[in-house]
Amino acid sequence: MTNTTTTDAIPAPPPSRIPVRGGGMFPVRRIYCVGRNFADHAKEMGAVAPASKAERGQPVFFLKPADAIVTDGVVPYPHGTHDLHHEIELVVALGRDAPAGVLDAHSADKLIYGYGVGLDLTRRDLQTAAKAKGLPWDTGKAFDHSAPVSELVQASQVRDLDALTLTLQVNGQTRQHGALSDLIWNVDDILHELSKLYALRAGDLIFMGTPAGVGPLQVGDAFVARLDGIVELHGEIAVPTGTGVA
Ligand code: MN
Repeated sequence: MTNTTTTDAIPAPPPSRIPVRGGGMFPVRRIYCVGRNFADHAKEMGAVAPASKAERGQPVFFLKPADAIVTDGVVPYPHGTHDLHHEIELVVALGRDAPAGVLDAHSADKLIYGYGVGLDLTRRDLQTAAKAKGLPWDTGKAFDHSAPVSELVQASQVRDLDALTLTLQVNGQTRQHGALSDLIWNVDDILHELSKLYALRAGDLIFMGTPAGVGPLQVGDAFVARLDGIVELHGEIAVPTGTGVA
């Protein structure tokens, strides 16, 4: 007799796993993303940037599915859009569960396993249409292959996050460049705020928001995303799935 309590009814999908520099793989649980975390990007999107830390209000959060992760840099141009945009972002990987309750911002760094650099790929036309109607952003943000990410570098290898910069080049031209010291909400702040809303766990990733300069990507574009001096992601936009030579 089949044991129906322990047998999967369908094959379980494997977790997304990201290589760690020096060996090992990081299994991904959830992907949290922060919107409008650089004033220059908030302005280019038509939002009002806070004038000071005291006026920053609440951070904007959204999620992507864990299986949106791409680790080989090859991103098929997504279906359903004519305006795929790049957003380079610092990626924070959590290696420990947060204790129950709200996380103290000063102890947040104890959760951090490491860092990477990634793209929060966005179907900008769908996101813009959703925003205009006051609807959720999911179709614009949370789609297959929407989260290419570099290998992860352990936190012990990164000394001063505030001194680091992000740079995105597309076909050899710099499209985005920003300093992590310009984040409206830094990593500790974001973990504190997220812990008010979710039980943070080992395996969670946080995409920390993008600086100004977002723009379109086309099939054939080659990109290099850098957390300067720490880690790089090399990738390309490939033909949409289902349109390749069989
Ligand atoms: Mn973003």
